[in-house]
Amino acid sequence: MDEYLFQHFTTHLEAVHAAHGHQTDFRRLASDMGIRVRQGEHNSLVWGDPPLITLGASDYGARRNFSAMHEIAHLLLKTCGAEAELLHHFGSFEDAAPHIEAWCNHAAGLLLLPAPVLDAAEQSHGLSAACVLALHLGGRVSLGAALRRLVYAEPERRVAGFVSTASRCVSDVAKLNLSIPFWRYDALPASIPKAGVRQRTFRVGQSEGTHLRVPGAAVGLGLLVAD
Ligand SMILES: [Zn+2]
Repeated sequence: MDEYLFQHFTTHLEAVHAAHGHQTDFRRLASDMGIRVRQGEHNSLVWGDPPLITLGASDYGARRNFSAMHEIAHLLLKTCGAEAELLHHFGSFEDAAPHIEAWCNHAAGLLLLPAPVLDAAEQSHGLSAACVLALHLGGRVSLGAALRRLVYAEPERRVAGFVSTASRCVSDVAKLNLSIPFWRYDALPASIPKAGVRQRTFRVGQSEGTHLRVPGAAVGLGLLVAD
């Protein structure tokens, strides 16, 4: 039931977003959709005519874009009927809330990095760390959001991505249909080369990987793709 409903939600979201030209600026998208945006105590969606999104003052930059898109996703979850289905399925708001929040986080990534943006980045960089970096910089989203957007883009793919620290510790990881020999907070395997300004390639098990240093940050980005 979950997977079907999730697909219903993301299909609705994609259709609405396409109708608004895949706008990735949240203020323009909200304005196009007839949603008011106002500064508030915290991030919230106020259901009304017109709907109102309030944004807390503590978020800024990439975090603010993400929070705003997350609230637009809440509205779309409601209007396509999926929120009511989730509440019905889980029986209470408390039990449904973690799922609702996770779905809206995923949807925020779709709104910030819609399919045409993803396709263009993949065409330029292939399935690589450089592609994740292009999404991070071009989409003004966090590394984690860019990583997740690429890793979860195609349900059939076997791919994993990670963020590494200067001391070769894994600080973030996302994977799809692929088993990898490390997880968050682990040390990076010795077979993965140091992240450089130019991405370096390597092999881990049945996967081919790329590792790249993020300009201006003491972290590296890696992507593994199964053969
Ligand atoms: Zn939320």
